[in-house]
Order: sequence, then C-alpha cells, then structure tokens
Amino acid sequence: MTQSKGKLPLDKVSAKQLMGLDACTRCGECQKWCPIYTLDSREDVTPRAKIKSLKGLLKSQQPGFFGLGKGKTDPQALATFTKSLWECSCCNQCHFVCPARLDTVELWENMREAMYVAGIGPVPEQRTYCDTLKTFGNPYKKEQVERTAWIESGLSRGTLLERPGLITDNRAPVLLFLGCTASYDEKINLVAQHAANILNRAGIQFGIMGPDEDCCYGKLRRIGDPDFAEKANSNIARLNNLGIETLITACAGCFKTLKHDYSKIAKQNYKIYHLAEYMDILLAQGTIRLEVPIEGKITYHDPCLLGRHIGIYEPPRRIIRAIPGLELVEMGRNRQHSRCCGAGGGLKMANHDLQEAASVYRIRDAEATGAEYLTTPCPTCFSGLSGGAAKIESPLKVRHLADLVAQSMGIKTP
Ligand code: SF4
Ligand code: SF4
Repeated sequence: MTQSKGKLPLDKVSAKQLMGLDACTRCGECQKWCPIYTLDSREDVTPRAKIKSLKGLLKSQQPGFFGLGKGKTDPQALATFTKSLWECSCCNQCHFVCPARLDTVELWENMREAMYVAGIGPVPEQRTYCDTLKTFGNPYKKEQVERTAWIESGLSRGTLLERPGLITDNRAPVLLFLGCTASYDEKINLVAQHAANILNRAGIQFGIMGPDEDCCYGKLRRIGDPDFAEKANSNIARLNNLGIETLITACAGCFKTLKHDYSKIAKQNYKIYHLAEYMDILLAQGTIRLEVPIEGKITYHDPCLLGRHIGIYEPPRRIIRAIPGLELVEMGRNRQHSRCCGAGGGLKMANHDLQEAASVYRIRDAEATGAEYLTTPCPTCFSGLSGGAAKIESPLKVRHLADLVAQSMGIKTP
C-alpha cells in the first residue's frame, strides 16, 4: 500500500469522486463561506483551489487521466496542496453551498487517508496525536482507569446524584457513551455528570462502560489514519456484545463517528442518539420537566458534526425554548450556515492559531446577538468556544446544553 513519497496516491479515492472534480464550475461559492478562508485569505485553502490543485496534480502525474500529463509531480504544488488539505476543520460548509453538491469532506478525508499512508502529510503534530490516541485509547495520555475519575469528583462535590452503574454489571438497555473529552477533561467533565444526572432523574435504566469505554477514534478518520477501520471494527464488536438497545452520546464527534462512519464499516445492533436528541424526546414525553427559570437571552451554536453532517438542528432549539425565562436569539449564521468554531477536523493540531481565531470569530458572532449566554451540546465545541471567549475576555457565559437542562430540572449545578 505504501507508495513512493512525492507521488499523489489515489487508492482511497473513488472514480465517482474523481469524476466529481470535473463538476466544479469554479463558481467560488465555497470560498465565500469557508471559515478558514475568512481567517486566512490564501486562496490555496479554499475548496475551489484545492480541487483545482488536485486536478492539476493528477493531470501531471497520470498521463491520460484528465488529459496528457508528463508523469511528473511538481513538488511545490504537492506541498501547497498537502498543507491546505489539512488546514481544514472538515466543517462541511463547502458541501452545503456548492451548487454541484460536491461531497467535499468525504473527498478531503479520503485524500488525507491516501496521503497519510503514502507518507505525504499530515503535519507531525497530527501524526503524533493519532499515535497517542492508538496507544492510550484517548488523546490525554491517561490510563483507562482514570476514565471514571469524574464519578468520584462529582460524588464528593455533590454534583453527581448517584454513581452510575457499569453496563457489564447492570445489563441496562441504554448505554451512556461519554467520549474522551467529557470523561477526562477536568474542565469539561461536568458534562458527564449532567448527562448521568438527567438520565437518572428521568428514570432511565442506563449504564456506562467505565474503564472499558474506548475512544471512538473519529479523529483518526478526520486526520486520515488508516487504522480507523480496525479500531472502529473492534469498538462495534464490543458494543454489539453489550446487548444494548440504545446508545446515547453527549459528544457530536462521537455521534458522527458512530452514526455515520461506523455504519459504513459494520452493522450496529442498537439505536444511536445524541444527548440533545434524547433529551428532546424525554421532554416531549413529559419524562423530564424544565421548570426552574433561567433568565436571559441565549444563542445557540450548531456543532458541524451534529448539524451539517447529520442534520440535527431543531431538537436542541426546542429544548432551549422550553426552558422558562430563556429567549433564543439566532446568530446571523445558523443551522446549515453555522460558522465552524474550528475545533474539528484535526485543525487544532495543524494550526492552533487558526483554530483559536475561528473560535474567537464565532464568539464575536454570538456577542453580536446581544445574548448573555452561548450554548452548544458538544464538549469539543464547548471547549473551543470557551477558549475563544477567554481569549478576548468576552462577557458571554458559555454553557453546555446539558448544564442548562440540569439547572432547569432543579438538579444542583456548581
Ligand atoms: S470543510 Fe469547511 S474548512 Fe474545510 S474547506 Fe470546506 S468550508 Fe473550508
Ligand atoms: S462551490 Fe462547488 S462548484 Fe463552486 S467553486 Fe466551490 S467546489 Fe466548485
């Protein structure tokens, strides 16, 4: 599978994707909307330029493919394409605005994988990140037993109502799949506590995997590490063996990975919900009640992996509207056109400054609404946006959606 360095590999790119390159009319719509181009006006980073570069590289190295090529790859053109390919948050905005509906992110991810295998890219920080994920089963270099540290901390602080059972012991029909960020990141793990508290109060029979939970490895797919398939297969086999009916995850990254990427690899014997969707169902059933008011204007950030990638826009908004006292005000860019916070696609490792600038830009969007609160239902977006707000000392209060729901249910929140 390894190919000579310096030559663009094509083994992961389908014939349909290659033919799709010719469907690009160079209209420039994607350039207008790309969050990275907004911050870094090098034309190379735009989807249009990447498609043109890719076609140019293919023409030059594959004689007869799109015309007569010389069979040589221009090293400078390849270097520029490689850098631009990974300086992208895989936000899917270019797909949504493209009149030809080119499946751009699938193309970026397939090209990343082909080039990763061939030793062309990604940046060393991304390769190290992938190696860390595979070695530790999480990006924080922590032991599996520490995956449940949030339980002890929540019980001792009185913010966790009850110790959640291990699914291997209680054989509950519902699994709360927390993901690495909500499990390990001390600044974020209140999300795990809120999710457990809400399910607990709703009377749902659920369990967690605790130290047996593995990373979803979605970042391997985003960055292009080919080991994603093997890791996904192993996770699917383990999850199928649990005999669960329903899997709920509080993370948009885990959600897209399980719902979309895993489904291309093997059959999963359970329904998958994002916590926002599940809470919306509980609310509609009257199983949970949002009665404690939270006064103020609030705006909502659509995580790309929940919104544009899977199409979930309304459930979180219904929840916000159901909380007494809150007034939802939309940012100019919302739903399909929501501006990415930059926290996805491995961008943070490729170009940290760019990711931070994207978060700050999104905070400015939120500030422009006059809202006091900004909420999102994803731990990764929550982390990115909190960082952006801190960077510019924004008065906005960034709250995870589960945090607001728990408060309105009258559950003690710190
Ligand atoms: S996926 Fe998003 S960041 Fe990447 S090229 Fe498309 S619009 Fe730009
Ligand atoms: S929006 Fe689509 S057709 Fe237009 S330049 Fe971008 S990729 Fe090409």
